[in-house]
Amino acid sequence: MSLKVDLKHTSWIPVEKDSDFPIQNLPFGVFKTDTLSPRVGVAIGKKIVDLKTLSVLGYLKNLPFTTEDFDTDYLNSMMLKGKKDVGELRLRIYKLLLSDFPDLRDNDNHVSQVLVEQDEAEMLLPIDTRDYTDFYSSEQHAYNVGCLFRDPKNALLPNWKHIPVGYHGRASSIIVSGQPIYRPKGQMKPPTTEVPVFGPSKLLDFELETVFFTFQGKPLGEPITTAEADDYIFGMALFNDWSARDIQGWEYVPLGPFLGKNFASSVSPWIVTLDALEFFRIPGPKQEPKILPYLEYEGNKHIDINLEVLIQPEGGKENLVGKSNFKYMYWNMNQQLAHHTVNGCNINVGDAMGSGTISGPNEGQYGSMLETSWKGTKPFKLSDGTTRTFIQDGDTVIMRGYCEKDGLRIGFGEVSTKVLPAK
Ligand code: CA
Repeated sequence: MSLKVDLKHTSWIPVEKDSDFPIQNLPFGVFKTDTLSPRVGVAIGKKIVDLKTLSVLGYLKNLPFTTEDFDTDYLNSMMLKGKKDVGELRLRIYKLLLSDFPDLRDNDNHVSQVLVEQDEAEMLLPIDTRDYTDFYSSEQHAYNVGCLFRDPKNALLPNWKHIPVGYHGRASSIIVSGQPIYRPKGQMKPPTTEVPVFGPSKLLDFELETVFFTFQGKPLGEPITTAEADDYIFGMALFNDWSARDIQGWEYVPLGPFLGKNFASSVSPWIVTLDALEFFRIPGPKQEPKILPYLEYEGNKHIDINLEVLIQPEGGKENLVGKSNFKYMYWNMNQQLAHHTVNGCNINVGDAMGSGTISGPNEGQYGSMLETSWKGTKPFKLSDGTTRTFIQDGDTVIMRGYCEKDGLRIGFGEVSTKVLPAK
């Protein structure tokens, strides 16, 4: 039984009107505190529901989970149970938190054990990802990059409208929001030099993306269809897929991104389940030319998710750089997963699939500094009077995202990462 969004439902836990985490959301994460070891939690309002303690106190009986599934550093063992069981777990938590459901609400002793203030918790990397794939599925972003590096007439390469283009990224350097990164060093060849030089990247950039994490897939050799894909997607998070444009520009021919990409990808700590996002499904763009049958899909598979990216200089204020939306994707997640597995490639629990940079059609809607500053030719002015073409040391890049419809807001929280000088 999957959880149906009911706009009227409220929780006995206070949830402010503009909160990302109403009872209809209930995203999963992993947290610890000064006194509690790492464990699985669910966000609601400004609180975290401690699932380990909830299980120990007997509130998760008759579900196919043990306390060990929550007394752990990652969501993986919980996710291994699959879509149906995780959906039922979420439904149980939903019931326990409903305003008129007294079982937990009226037991003050248990409530005090189960609820943790988000302010007092440290959020940890929620998922142990073994394989990370990065797509390139926003048409406006691909078009902008094509204009910058080729010309507007040949901006999209011939394969782009036939294949959800992607490459295999690096899972070891996926980090959680709050963890700073060091400016990467590497080989670059500026147009002004004859031979390559080595040093800190001068063109460090963010990429405004979302990521989805998978349940356990099928055995090697068995594709997942677009119709089946929803059953293999656990949920989504915000994703800053860092790029060193100068390192990338010199190294990428002929095998694609490598050291310009693999030094860090930052993820937000709360995984919003696909179940919580169903209410915000919308139709996707018309896909012309006609796509191959294995990429065709039925129903609304795109999702309306507002996205924004901000730069906060050291000691300064936040500056909104771009506002985009997940609806600008040309290829949806079902098509990405069907394409990824059509050759028989298997996916495992916890695999991460990046959307690719998501840009909207207009200026102010771009998901990278490469586009915002138009390859460094249009500096972006911050409120403190300084300008940015790319990201400077001491800058914090913040991404936020939320869905909103009929008064219901389902949010993702944020992914925030500070850039420290190169080591
Ligand atoms: Ca990317």
